[in-house]
Amino acid sequence: MREQIAAAAAACRPPRAADTIAVVAVSKRQPDEAIAAAWNAGQRDFGENYVQQIAAKVERLDALAGIRWHLIGPLQSNKAAAAAHLCAWVHSIDRIKVARRLGAARTEAGADALDACVQVNLGDEASKSGVRAAETADLCSEVAGIDGLRLRGLMCMPEESASPELLRERFGQLRELKEDIQLRCGPLDTLSMGMSADFELAIEQGSTMVRIGSAIFGPRPE
Ligand SMILES: *Cc1c(COP(=O)(O)O)cnc(C)c1O
Repeated sequence: MREQIAAAAAACRPPRAADTIAVVAVSKRQPDEAIAAAWNAGQRDFGENYVQQIAAKVERLDALAGIRWHLIGPLQSNKAAAAAHLCAWVHSIDRIKVARRLGAARTEAGADALDACVQVNLGDEASKSGVRAAETADLCSEVAGIDGLRLRGLMCMPEESASPELLRERFGQLRELKEDIQLRCGPLDTLSMGMSADFELAIEQGSTMVRIGSAIFGPRPE
């Protein structure tokens, strides 16, 4: 995977350094052995869609030192405190209530601030979580003011049926939105975008964190 990412980075105009792109290995529904094998190969960042799944894996895989869990799926406010304790990153903030609960849980525990991205629903899809583009700046400036959270940037997941042209447009929109928001919220260093099928386009458009499942682990078991 690192080689493909390095190739995509080198193909950018101007070329990008491969080490400016982090990889979150999306381990949802993968067996523990697959996660341990990736950890043995040096992977430390793993992504899951559900807090309950992270809780179970944290317990079973506690021997894997230095592992960092990223919540990349939608978060309900009643799971926010658990997420704050278990995760190093939450990519899917789309409501202020959830953000406040995450920050409060970290602060009460005396823990470091949680790294956070606001998820943007660029296609205004009814079935998808994420804040609308037009409301992103307001949410980000509120999130940036919450103790216990460190706003790092934006995350998106384009329409499943998107053509390469639309994917390029969506990833470009997220990059531009981040640039606008930085004028209000100060520097943001993260664009969480790109999955197995589209990471090259995401890297071309400035992704700093790709979330890769099947291209690392193979097809997901049912
Ligand atoms: C499942 C998932 C991914 C990874 O998908 P692949 O196509 O297997 O790379 C990335 N991001 C999110 C939010 C996901 O739910």
